[in-house]
Amino acid sequence: RKDVGRIITGSTGLDELIGGGIETQAITEVFGEFGSGKSQISHEIAVTIQLPPEKGGLCGECVFIDTENTFRPERIKQIAEGFNLDVDEVLGKIHIARAFNSSHQILMADKVNELIQGGVNIRLVIVDSLTSHFRAEYVGRESLATRQQKLNQHLHTLQNIANTYNVAVFVTNQVQARPDAFFGSPTKAIGGHVLGHAATYRIWLKKGLAGKRIARLMDSPHLPEGEAVFKITTEGIVD
Ligand code: ATP
Repeated sequence: RKDVGRIITGSTGLDELIGGGIETQAITEVFGEFGSGKSQISHEIAVTIQLPPEKGGLCGECVFIDTENTFRPERIKQIAEGFNLDVDEVLGKIHIARAFNSSHQILMADKVNELIQGGVNIRLVIVDSLTSHFRAEYVGRESLATRQQKLNQHLHTLQNIANTYNVAVFVTNQVQARPDAFFGSPTKAIGGHVLGHAATYRIWLKKGLAGKRIARLMDSPHLPEGEAVFKITTEGIVD
């Protein structure tokens, strides 16, 4: 892959774990239980993507597909201020797309193509959460195949955007805490292996002691498995 760009997460430990930051031309999935920090990382990178390359960004704008009403402008304000950035300018470069159901979410991803073709310098697409609408709408064993097919189609659209426009795609996925699956793969364990195949990088977030968070890189094709510890502060993600 040529000209792969990277976006810092705010934690150098987490960046190193994934090879130097969130990559363009790839889908990065973070999964973990409620409150593990998935939305916090989403907010952080919506800001850091806007930094110049020497500071860890790509001078880019982002699309934030919000499926659970988790986007908080006031949180962006805190993080932007931590980087001494102009808050209104930063907010103006985050294109919020609220997705009311899974079909709407799929439509929103298609619309990203139009936005980019219209000349907006989108370098990051966040989907927070990727899976919630699909899980809520396709319940029961008989709809599992349809759900996976729709989710695959959605991920295919996202991967195309990533490859065609050198964009980073970052998706979140809430899973139950499963201590017994510590060395395994929770998404696979609960039957969600569609994501396991589609995402280039998969990061499992866990809550640690004293407000710490542990990120574990899962079955990466070319990076060693390992863990990084980070914290969530008022200014955002830090080591
Ligand atoms: P869910 O699956 O429920 O959406 P999540 O993984 O997206 O969960 P986040 O919303 O990213 O979880 O994380 C929430 C946690 O982040 C809070 O419990 C708190 O510990 C921390 N947090 C949020 N805002 C701040 C802040 N301003 N300062 C410090 N910590 C914060």
